[in-house]
Amino acid sequence: MEYRVKTTKVQEFIDITSLINEEIKRQKVQEGIAIVFVPHTTAGVTINENTDPDVAEDILMALNKAFPVKGDYSHYEGNSHAHIKASLMGSSCSLIIENGRLKLGTWQGVYFCEFDGPRNRKVYIKVIGTNK
Ligand code: ZN
Repeated sequence: MEYRVKTTKVQEFIDITSLINEEIKRQKVQEGIAIVFVPHTTAGVTINENTDPDVAEDILMALNKAFPVKGDYSHYEGNSHAHIKASLMGSSCSLIIENGRLKLGTWQGVYFCEFDGPRNRKVYIKVIGTNK
């Protein structure tokens, strides 16, 4: 299933955990796997703490320190920093479904990572499993 993610900032992490749980519910899967795929080259997906929002902000801050927006890059679009960050986060993740929900750690959430927004983005969520 293809979901829309509307980002509102140049760079931001958006918690998409509930979106994935929604798709699991829609597919009526009790046990299985969910694959989340981001079909973009300047956005990615990562799993990290979603209790304290400062964690996502700190990750962004550290990424910007390591890969500044302006730098000695060659790419003509001028958004190489975003391509690099997207590659580091990765474009997909696989998750375990148990009892009809994502089996994540207590403090974990799944984040859509925008590095070149704001834009209208997509995320593909594929749920595979059984309903018992
Ligand atoms: Zn580019």
